[in-house]
Amino acid sequence: MLDLFKETNSNLPPISSDDLNDADVIKEIKALKERILPKHLVLGHHYQSNQIIQFADEIGDSLALAKKAASISKPYITFCGVHFMAETADMLTRDDQQVVLPDLNAGCSMADMANREQVDKAWSFFQASTSKKITPITYINCTASLKAFVGKNGGAICTSSNAKKIIEWAFKQGEKLLFFPDQHLGRNTCFDMGIPLDEMVVFNPNMLNGGLTPEQIDKAKVILWYGYCSVHQGFTAEQVNQFKADRPDVNVIVHPECSFEVVQAAHDAGSTSYIIDKIKDAPAGSKFAVGTEINLVNRLAEQFTDKEIISLSPYQCLCTTMYRVRPRWLLASLQAIEKDKPINVIRVPKEIREPSLIALERMLSIS
Ligand code: SF4
Repeated sequence: MLDLFKETNSNLPPISSDDLNDADVIKEIKALKERILPKHLVLGHHYQSNQIIQFADEIGDSLALAKKAASISKPYITFCGVHFMAETADMLTRDDQQVVLPDLNAGCSMADMANREQVDKAWSFFQASTSKKITPITYINCTASLKAFVGKNGGAICTSSNAKKIIEWAFKQGEKLLFFPDQHLGRNTCFDMGIPLDEMVVFNPNMLNGGLTPEQIDKAKVILWYGYCSVHQGFTAEQVNQFKADRPDVNVIVHPECSFEVVQAAHDAGSTSYIIDKIKDAPAGSKFAVGTEINLVNRLAEQFTDKEIISLSPYQCLCTTMYRVRPRWLLASLQAIEKDKPINVIRVPKEIREPSLIALERMLSIS
């Protein structure tokens, strides 16, 4: 994934903070952030730990943060999130702004489940299998080269908040839909729109022709890519049912990246912003078991102390790639920015950026 993009001084270790203890690192970030305030902004994704979130000027989901980056004039933006998020922010910002990812190894296992070569090959197979029009829709959690593929082939990007609207739009363009890389968001949204499961097939890029025949492609209304989020796929319908049996007073709410069975078993499902709003707007005393990333669940519990908010899973549902962004890496980023020699700058090349922006702008105009 990374070899497609230019990153300046890739992944330099935070050598200058080696001699600092953890408390000194935090102190140093605070002081440094103050010094470089006029030229710099820190963005923090909801799934970051509090150690990072305490320094975020803005907290949000990937699209909200990318839009924030595009709305400011500061030359440097440190994106505490994962690689595809920093790419999106780079595409939406001006050429003279630089987006930094504190640790280049902060990727997304879902985004890595579909690459351009696989999608190009699958697309040729689909075109040879059916004469019906297929509109490609990609979840924003993918590399920029896949966003470019979608832009070039008449499709659009979606987020978990606007997936329904974008899929409705896609079905106005043609009879069939290719949805990648998250099979669960695609399946859950399409089912919610009234498309039966037997009109959906799953294309597995690790199998010959995705494990599908041309007849299956021709017959299906929706082709789902075999991708998933390892954090959200970890929740099970058994956990939901157990909760409902043991704690009937608790609302089970999950993210649509969870499996179909989990979403069907839960009381409610929705995007990160939907979950946050639902909890925020609930009356005092409400109880929620939440099926999403643990840092967000813990933060909601800290924020809304008049409500009971717990994780749906007894296991640690941590996004380990997101967690790679640690205070020492943030400090290294800020130190480099102070010297106007930023490290780990994410740059999407023009030939990928332009078609990707077509797909992004399509999404923004539809939703
Ligand atoms: S939570 Fe899942 S989809 Fe989100 S960044 Fe982590 S691995 Fe990717």
